[in-house]
Amino acid sequence: MASYDPQKIEKKWQQKWEASDIFTVKEDLKKKKNKYYVLEMYPYPSGEGLHMGHLRNYSIGDVFTRFKRMCGYNVLYPMGYDSFGLPAENAAIDQNANPEEWTNANMKLMKGQQKRIGLSYDWTRMIYSHDPYYYRWDQWFFLKMFERSLAYRQESYVNWCPSCATVLANEQVQSGQCWRCNSEVEQKFLTQWFLKIRTYAEELLDGLNKVDWPEKVKIMQRNWIGKSEGSIIKFPIAGEDRSIDIFTTRADTLFGATFMVFAPEHPWVKTWVKSTKYEKDFIKFYDDVMRQDKFERTDIEVIKKGMFIRKYAINPMTKEEIPIYIGNFVIYEYGALCD
Ligand SMILES: [Zn+2]
Repeated sequence: MASYDPQKIEKKWQQKWEASDIFTVKEDLKKKKNKYYVLEMYPYPSGEGLHMGHLRNYSIGDVFTRFKRMCGYNVLYPMGYDSFGLPAENAAIDQNANPEEWTNANMKLMKGQQKRIGLSYDWTRMIYSHDPYYYRWDQWFFLKMFERSLAYRQESYVNWCPSCATVLANEQVQSGQCWRCNSEVEQKFLTQWFLKIRTYAEELLDGLNKVDWPEKVKIMQRNWIGKSEGSIIKFPIAGEDRSIDIFTTRADTLFGATFMVFAPEHPWVKTWVKSTKYEKDFIKFYDDVMRQDKFERTDIEVIKKGMFIRKYAINPMTKEEIPIYIGNFVIYEYGALCD
């Protein structure tokens, strides 16, 4: 052979593989071989097909799978598509197409590309996350979590595009605007579903000590789990019967607390400023903050803004009144769940 001609050689062998079902995994009932399972990320079926990141990722899995087969393992190596949900829905709206037809066409395109690369998947074991036979299990999982109070509803702020009439993920908001229609994104207070993953913080942290991952990845994971130990201290609101719970990791520094900052979206704030001379300024401040991205609000580089609303809390240590401000860097939902 003078040169390697991929058009000729690869096609020939890929057809032979297909005709002989060479990659179809059969159950080894006599248990002659050890089992091995190789699983990769399922791609989202985009209209553009595979990108170079997919090629790199799936080549590694394929090489590893072929190696394991040659070592005598019965390797289960399936493929699937992450074809359900927001991205597929958005792409269909964008293309003015039926989401199912659009998704099916994209999967066909990507599957064809994956076959051309020569990836050795068992194509008889496909998973499509938009298939009711698949997502019924998502729903079953959800119900199991709901029965154990691990799924619960709570009011929270979401990014809302009034023109698309839909909730947007943080990644879909670009400098305060909807990525699809460029309308100004609003913050809307809506009832949302949450999963109580913090119940598993301890277990997740323990698990991290048992895996052989780079330290920087472990640090990111620990920060994401976000467990911190501290105390809840009650600060009474001056002139009212209620108090606010403050979480602190340094209860010994409480004597030094000389002011308190509320998130402008905290429901109490609205009632405090109502019919006062602060109401007008508050509404402007509130509207400005609601247009800011939540990550941006807490970003150390972003300018911190606040205003006094003539309200006081009582420092439980000194019994002294301390002024309450509202500030853009305080997020209403942050860290609200405790055990
Ligand atoms: Zn929009």
